[in-house]
Amino acid sequence: METSGGWVVVGIDNGGTSNNTTVLDASGRFLVDRLVETPSRVTEGPEVAVEAMAQALDNVLGLTGIPPEVVRGVGLDTPGPASADGVISSKGATNFAQSAWRGFDVRGALEARLGLPVVYNNDANAAALYAHHIRYGAKAAGHSSISAIVGTGLGGGVIESGRVVRGAAGMAGELGHVQIPMHGLLAEGQPMPTCNCGFVGDAESVASLTGIERNLLPYWLTRFENHELGRVGSLKEAAKLVRGYGERKDPLALAIFEQQATALGRLFTIAANYTDPDTYFLGGGVVETSPRFRQWFLSRVREQTDLREEQVRVASFALVPDLDMAGARGAAIAALGVLQAPVRASTSL
Ligand SMILES: [Zn+2]
Repeated sequence: METSGGWVVVGIDNGGTSNNTTVLDASGRFLVDRLVETPSRVTEGPEVAVEAMAQALDNVLGLTGIPPEVVRGVGLDTPGPASADGVISSKGATNFAQSAWRGFDVRGALEARLGLPVVYNNDANAAALYAHHIRYGAKAAGHSSISAIVGTGLGGGVIESGRVVRGAAGMAGELGHVQIPMHGLLAEGQPMPTCNCGFVGDAESVASLTGIERNLLPYWLTRFENHELGRVGSLKEAAKLVRGYGERKDPLALAIFEQQATALGRLFTIAANYTDPDTYFLGGGVVETSPRFRQWFLSRVREQTDLREEQVRVASFALVPDLDMAGARGAAIAALGVLQAPVRASTSL
C-alpha cells in the first residue's frame, strides 16, 4: 500500500480478550478502515501478552502490506490503572489480574521487544484523543474537549490544545472519581452510592455498569417489586440487561438512565467551570445502543449540564465515534504527535 510521507505508526489497543490494531501514516491518514483483532492473552501474564502485541503488529502490517522498516513508532493503550508512562498499578488491575503484572512496565517491555519507540496512554485517554481529532482535524491544537466513557467503570480524558492532559502522577482525567453533588439526584430513601475507589457519591458510583450493579439496581428493584430483573440469577447479570430494557422504555431502566444522565451532567458542569471545553464527548456501552436511545441519553446529559450563556453559544455535545476502533486510533494519533514534535530542549524534559 502507498504511504504518504514515507513512514507510519502502528496503534495497538490492548484489551482483556483482544488487541485491536491500526496503521496511521505520517500525513495523518488511517490505512485500516475496520476492526483488526488478535488475541491479547493478557491472562497468561506479561511475557506472553507482550509477545501477542508484537504479533498483532506483524499481523496488521501483513494485512496492509506495509514493510516493517517504515514503522517509526507504536502507540499503545491499555485499561488502567497505570502510570502515565505505562507501568501497571502496583495494586494490580482488573484486566491484569496475574501477580506478575503488578508494577510491570508494559510500555518499556514492548519498546524493548520491538526496538521501536512506544508511546503509552490509558484506553480512555486514547479514545478521548481520537474523538477530539476526528472532530477538529487540522484544527485540533486550537480546541479543547472532555470525554466521559461509560463502561464497567467511568473512564475519562481531558484534551487541552489537542493534547492529553496527563497530570504530575499521570492521573489527570480520572473523571469517574470526581465527587459530584448528590442532592436532587438520589430518590427518596436511596442510599448514598459508593465506589470501588473508596469514595462516596463520585461520578462512577452512578454512571457505570458497576454503579448500576452495586448502587442503582438494588435500590430500584425495591421500588419496582416483581420486576423481571429481580428474577435474574445475579445482580451482575441483571445489571448488564438494564441497557436493553432502557431501549424498550422500561420505567425501572429509564429511572436508572435518568440518574446516570444527571450524574454525567453534573460531572460536565464541574468541567465547564474547570477547563471550559469546546466539546463534551460521551462514549462507552451507553452509546452502543439504538440511535434513538443514545440521542435521548445525550440530550438528557446536555440538559443536566449547567452552562453559562457564553458557554452555551460555543460548546457542543457529541458521541465518541467508531468506539471499537477509537482506542487503537487514538493511541496511533498520540504516537504520531510525539514523533512529529520538534526536538525539545533537554531542560524541558
Ligand atoms: Zn471512585
